[in-house]
Amino acid sequence: MKELIVAKFGGSSVKDASAMERCGKIVTQNHWRKVVVISATYNTTNQLEEMYRLARLDLPEAKLLLGKNRERHFCLAKDVLASFKTDALEAVIDDLKELYKEAEDLLLETNHGPKSERLCRGSMESAQQEIMAQLYSVGERLSSRIFFSYLKHLMPDRSLRHIDARSMIRTDSNFLEARPKWEIITTKAETLLGDIFHKDEVVVTQGFIGMDEMGRTTILGREGSDYTATLLGHALKPASVEIWTDVPGIFSVDPRILPSAHVIHEMDYDDATLMASLGAKVLFDQTMAPVCNLGIPVYVASTLAPESGGTWIKRLSQTSGPVGMALASHPRTLKQLEQRFGHNNPGILLGEKVGVISVIGTLPGNFSLDTFLGGMGITSKVLEQGSRHISFAIPLDRMEEAASALHSRLY
Ligand code: ADP
Ligand code: ASP
Ligand code: MG
Repeated sequence: MKELIVAKFGGSSVKDASAMERCGKIVTQNHWRKVVVISATYNTTNQLEEMYRLARLDLPEAKLLLGKNRERHFCLAKDVLASFKTDALEAVIDDLKELYKEAEDLLLETNHGPKSERLCRGSMESAQQEIMAQLYSVGERLSSRIFFSYLKHLMPDRSLRHIDARSMIRTDSNFLEARPKWEIITTKAETLLGDIFHKDEVVVTQGFIGMDEMGRTTILGREGSDYTATLLGHALKPASVEIWTDVPGIFSVDPRILPSAHVIHEMDYDDATLMASLGAKVLFDQTMAPVCNLGIPVYVASTLAPESGGTWIKRLSQTSGPVGMALASHPRTLKQLEQRFGHNNPGILLGEKVGVISVIGTLPGNFSLDTFLGGMGITSKVLEQGSRHISFAIPLDRMEEAASALHSRLY
């Protein structure tokens, strides 16, 4: 049946009680939003990463940070459940406590050295990565547990299920950047969720996390919850996959950097893939792959302003003119791009001083990037050029200025 919607809510959309309430309202507004994928709350994954780093250095701050995060989640659970006459809070807090115990044990283990059962399956490095992936998973499991309980009270007449995403998202054993096994995911999701079309049911699950064939936790890569949503889309063939975030769609350029950016209302899968894979943080780089061949549309919109509309990503006939720009300045993104561009640019070093701007779409025939930027006294170097994009290295301290000038000239 076509109407089914897989809806994913990102970290900033579940950061506090009022944010979670907005997500709840969105779920209730369309009866077909039956599969709900939830990220960890805002900044939790970064904090788990930091805790791991501190624990490996045997620093007591690891535990302090865990304690702070625990307080935040306890408060969130109390706040979202406060308006319901319920004793459910106790059960939620018990489950959260268990998850924090798991995190605490993992931090101890990383510090004392991985347990022998992990080591006998792989190297010290992979055993540490296994610990890290499991620690990361705690973030998504905390937020989904709270949101599940909240939704249950918000929609007392509907049936709700909380499913551990690891029972569906099967991957290889590359713990921190696991590759999903699409066929197994489809079989698992069909088995667990196949009847959802006919039932008045809402399922809450986590983004970002998976499981290898030995039952060990993996993650799809940082920011990977968008990918979980489209992998479930691939498996269940819904009418659409929705990515709910903190901006009302994909903009011509990151609106936090250039407030003059405008929303792109419709976008082709290939252009969206280029934007995401060249550094536009709004979508995980592989998000489109599971759904583009099936033609399942992806809708990107804001939980802060759901009525403002958003971006529909679907198969479009080729357009001419520029579509958008991706700005890459985050160290993690630049590392990924270094690998991508490294093949044709041996020895390339992106990072502290050098960032990347990519223009997606086509440029006007008489336009020369080199001349345009040269006119501003900015030296740039083309790193990759395709029929729908051009990426170039640029000094990081001139990036915003160059992006702003290019945006005014081209968009
Ligand atoms: P979530 O937590 O919902 O996954 P993200 O932080 O991963 O949200 O992605 C949303 C952010 O992406 C926005 O706040 C925005 O700053 C950034 N962003 C980067 N490029 C773009 C773009 N072209 N259009 C919209 N947002 C963008
Ligand atoms: N929570 C994970 C991260 O921050 C996944 C996601 O939000 O997409 O990377
Ligand atoms: Mg994201």
